[in-house]
Amino acid sequence: HLDLAGKIAQRLGSSIREETVHAVDGVSLTIAEGEVLGMVGESGCGKSTFGRMVAGILPPSEGNLYFDGQPIWRDGKAVSRETALAVQMIFQDPFASLDPRMRVLDIIGEAPKVHGIVSAKDMDDYVAEVMQRVGLEADFRRRYPHQFSGGQRQRIGIARALAVKPRFLVCDEAIAALDVSIQAQVINLFMDLRQDLDLTYLFISHDLSVVEHISDRIVIMYLGRIVEVSSTDDLFDQPNHPYTQALLSEVPRIDLRKRAYTPVKGEIPSPLDPPTGCHFHPRCPFATARCAAERPALKEIGPGRWSACHLNDG
Ligand code: SF4
Ligand code: MG
Repeated sequence: HLDLAGKIAQRLGSSIREETVHAVDGVSLTIAEGEVLGMVGESGCGKSTFGRMVAGILPPSEGNLYFDGQPIWRDGKAVSRETALAVQMIFQDPFASLDPRMRVLDIIGEAPKVHGIVSAKDMDDYVAEVMQRVGLEADFRRRYPHQFSGGQRQRIGIARALAVKPRFLVCDEAIAALDVSIQAQVINLFMDLRQDLDLTYLFISHDLSVVEHISDRIVIMYLGRIVEVSSTDDLFDQPNHPYTQALLSEVPRIDLRKRAYTPVKGEIPSPLDPPTGCHFHPRCPFATARCAAERPALKEIGPGRWSACHLNDG
């Protein structure tokens, strides 16, 4: 499993002001093998930063991440080639991440070739097989990215990740750029791949309704901190944190109980200058003086459930 232990912090230099920001502050999580963990929050909450650290793309400035007991990072360098290949990332914009001058055959075949996963003579068949697995016509492997639709391009991106035989996929807004009609198809593909290939997922989205149907567990983040961790069922039945409740009020569904929650108000504050105490206090309908003064700890509120809110102290 993936163990994201201890204090993980990421400092991002701002080009506007010469300051450091904790994009991910003291996040500690464990993801079990075969699990789909959803991670939800507004832009700037640090979820993409966290995903990149897990995928070995961005080093944490403090703390550690382990994959199968092996550190992913040491002294700012990704540690092992095996881990780097085992954890792959799927990005939001499939087109931006595909080289327009490369044929799909070479886009998908590049990493397996570089890492000696498949021999040159078997590559054509191998790429055809990977393309079929993601629902792409294998006959199209000599075409270029612009000859495919948005949904097909995302499938190319997924095929490229699968080609190195990963065990863990980090999907960052992986369906956000797709037409709504295509989104469900790509989600279904992720779920089929989970079954067929025993994959584990970190599924990052700004949209709670996107992760609802695929996640076993959900982590809610706000300005670099985890505010709630829960099984998906419990989170939707009984959201604990006021921010989770606000997010849930925006999920379109015919369920009067959930409409009782107040949507989140106001702009998200800058991560450069987060509010004191509970970062959520300027937007929280339940905030008290204590909330502005004291940071609420992430506490266990039930079996497998965690929340960071002073209201739980009674
Ligand atoms: Fe709201 Fe206070 Fe709870 Fe923060 S700690 S979510 S401000 S009630
Ligand atoms: Mg993002």
